[in-house]
Amino acid sequence: SIPLSFFAGIGGSSREGILIKGSNYMETLSKTKYVVFDKTGTLTQGVFEVNGVHHSKLEPQKVIELAAAAECSSSHPISKSLQKAYGKLIDRKHVGNITELSGKGIIAEVDGHNVAVGNAKLMDHVGVVAIPCHQVGTIVHVAIDNEYAGHIIISDIIKPHAKEAVSELKRAGVEKTVMLTGDAKAVANQVASTLGIDEVYSELLPEGKVQKVEDLISRKPEKAKLAFVGDGINDAPVLSRADIGIAMGAMGSDAAIEAADVVLMDDDPSKIAKAIKISRKCLSIVY
Ligand code: ADP
Ligand code: MG
Repeated sequence: SIPLSFFAGIGGSSREGILIKGSNYMETLSKTKYVVFDKTGTLTQGVFEVNGVHHSKLEPQKVIELAAAAECSSSHPISKSLQKAYGKLIDRKHVGNITELSGKGIIAEVDGHNVAVGNAKLMDHVGVVAIPCHQVGTIVHVAIDNEYAGHIIISDIIKPHAKEAVSELKRAGVEKTVMLTGDAKAVANQVASTLGIDEVYSELLPEGKVQKVEDLISRKPEKAKLAFVGDGINDAPVLSRADIGIAMGAMGSDAAIEAADVVLMDDDPSKIAKAIKISRKCLSIVY
């Protein structure tokens, strides 16, 4: 039978906006020593501002329109940001043949043109040579009919509590914090150093994130548990692979909430340390 204080712990945490799906997860949480974060939507808001369009022969607004149209059915934060920057409704009748390549971007037919929107890996995939960009930011390359059409530079904002979230974890005795991202190295390193994260791995495909988590799990002491925190866009497999999967509940996807063991209802990463502390307190009452 499940000791009563587990129910108290689960109830107490739910009042803090932390949904713990079972008493066994409280036990794992209490032993968490490694916390691995996804970047976009987890440590950052996932709401990008468009900073500029570079190296394009087309009008900047036209590049944004074609990119937003190609992205019209995607739920990725980059897509949402491009829709917002375009500012008008996309007539989906003009968009067809949509393929989303997770960790890379989108290819679609817009008004009879083949439009590819994504990172350097996507440009490699469609065989287009991208002009490198030396600005720090998330670079969204656009190719039209297999010709390079410039890049849109966008930037995300770090969540207000993200820095505190990392320092609270350290204070709670978490030994290692790690950030995994599919985004470019320069942005990834900047976010990680601003937040005081110990290790950072960038330019990863979703399967690369699973691989990294498996590496970390195999190298850590058996008793130390690893938590992965994500928003579920492309990272549901990592949420399931970690000893404990923590998902953002408000902005996150249904797949994430499904795959996770713990859900943070208000997407606030500083609730992770809180969840660990509540679990330890609860366990100390049980045993
Ligand atoms: P993160 O690891 O930061 O959460 P993702 O794994 O979702 O990011 O995506 C990694 C990278 O792949 C993004 O930074 C972007 O370059 C590219 N990408 C993924 N999906 C899209 C999309 N829908 N549109 C444009 N680029 C995308
Ligand atoms: Mg993500």
